[in-house]
Amino acid sequence: MTSLARTEKINFRIDGIAASAGIVIAEVYLLDRRRVDVEEWSISPAAIDDEIAKFNDAVALAREQLRQVRNSIEKDDSEEHSLIIDTQLMILDDQMLLDGTTNLVRSACINASGALRRVLQGFRRNFEAVDDEYLRERGSDIEMVGERILRNLRGSVQQSTADLRSQAVVVAHDLSPADTLQMDRSKVVAFVTDLGGRTSHTAILARSLGIPAVVGLENITALVAGGERIIVDGCSGSVVVNPCAHTIKHYEEKRQRYLRYRQQLQSYCQLPAQTLDGRKITIKANIEFPEEAELAINNGAEGIGLLRTEFMYMARQTPPDEEIQFQEFKRIIEQVTPHPVTIRTLDMGGDKFVSDICLGDEPNPAMGLRSIRLSLREQQLFRTQLRAILRASALGEVRILLPMISGVAEVRSCRAIISQVIEELRGEGVACDSEIAIGIMVETPSAVLLCDVFAREVDFFSVGSNDLIQYCLAIDRGNEHVAYLYEPLHPAILRALTMVAEAAQREGIPACICGEMAAEPIYAMLLLAMGYSELSMNSGGISQVKKLLGQWHSENGRELLTKILALTTADEVKECVERQMKIYLPDVEVGWEFV
Ligand code: PEP
Ligand code: MG
Repeated sequence: MTSLARTEKINFRIDGIAASAGIVIAEVYLLDRRRVDVEEWSISPAAIDDEIAKFNDAVALAREQLRQVRNSIEKDDSEEHSLIIDTQLMILDDQMLLDGTTNLVRSACINASGALRRVLQGFRRNFEAVDDEYLRERGSDIEMVGERILRNLRGSVQQSTADLRSQAVVVAHDLSPADTLQMDRSKVVAFVTDLGGRTSHTAILARSLGIPAVVGLENITALVAGGERIIVDGCSGSVVVNPCAHTIKHYEEKRQRYLRYRQQLQSYCQLPAQTLDGRKITIKANIEFPEEAELAINNGAEGIGLLRTEFMYMARQTPPDEEIQFQEFKRIIEQVTPHPVTIRTLDMGGDKFVSDICLGDEPNPAMGLRSIRLSLREQQLFRTQLRAILRASALGEVRILLPMISGVAEVRSCRAIISQVIEELRGEGVACDSEIAIGIMVETPSAVLLCDVFAREVDFFSVGSNDLIQYCLAIDRGNEHVAYLYEPLHPAILRALTMVAEAAQREGIPACICGEMAAEPIYAMLLLAMGYSELSMNSGGISQVKKLLGQWHSENGRELLTKILALTTADEVKECVERQMKIYLPDVEVGWEFV
């Protein structure tokens, strides 16, 4: 890869947000997804044939490019991805798109790019007006194909991570979880983005997939052109563009230290999760796919505390039917039994969306028609998923977790639907656990304020601290500009978490934390002191938490909690926690730089 870097500066360091640990040194692959700027101009009638020939060449080139991408995918066996490419290839034969453009070049005497842009705008208007979700989705496929032809007309290079020949760091303005899922992981060794926060779902996915990532760099895409060497330090959250030999040596050494640290943590995986004074806690894993279940158990998880089922939808072109979902759950249960599997019903929306489930135009997706609200509105979708979960419940211990609950009425509606589905299965003679445990994600302020009521309505709590912090502190969890406010040690959050744990204890139901803060050892110690009996985390974090637990006395936690609950700002709390940790854990040589 050779190209001119936009920044010629040597050792140009930019700090962002550490999203997924690991250190990588590779070349930049700039993934620019922005719409091509097109100018329209008039052409003379004599130039029309040439303009149409150029357009036809650009279409032929697009066809060739897509075929090449398709061939490279087939080798890797990714059926979902091939389907997307097949659809795009079919669109390239669409007469409305092709004739529409060439007719416009002729009738309006304009350049091919301008004509194509007008045709695409017409498509967009028409597709936006239709109710049919499937058709609307085809609209965005047409746009993608159109942008490809426009790039070819302009002579710019087409981009797809499938084209990567060697390992590279993907640099992008933003990546959706779906983009991340489609990356060829043998080639994409790290990614960095302008946008994003530590708990945005792309960051969560990077941790699950073990891809180092730095997000929230604000303008990294403006500073690189592709082809530069870049160091990605997903532990500290910084990148260095055009590093000199000395810097490379420094990071190479840090990389080796990190690898040794991870290696040494391995010995903690299978140890019990227990404090110095013998207090036990259950550590489970958060997963998105069945493939992760085995790794979770090998990393020492005692069950799955959170299966984010929406990722099964995002990894496919069409929503998985009941049988596909059942088979996926079965695979997980087989690997995790005798431990329980907590299956969260569809938590679609926010930054997680999938083309075939239309959420409409959501002006404020984090607060819109998402999650349980969507399931209660699209009941067929919900019932299909519940049937799969309930059938799977006959194979091992399964619990149902309802996301983004904000009122008791939602729980009651869900319970009624679950009972109906159980009856329906019974009527069909299909086995299921009719006493299945039903819990809620506590992740809205209203769920916290009503936690005593909820504790009598459900079988367990699972606190989604990622969303709880977002909604309590009114900060978009994916927005890099307010990431500095995203503070698990904020006194309001500490109080909320304590309230929930106490309510659960009073009603005798288990309380778990499955947000990202559970995987941060210092927070884990505090959560334990609050009374949480379970922590669920990305499986890479388990050994680290177990290691620290083993050096921790639970009395220290209670003392620390009492102190910090009396403080009034997040900074005071942080300072107090750091000071106390040095006193309580003087000999601990944990790799704090990697935590
Ligand atoms: C959370 O909100 O803390 C959570 C665990 O769920 P998600 O990150 O999928 O929103
Ligand atoms: Mg959540």
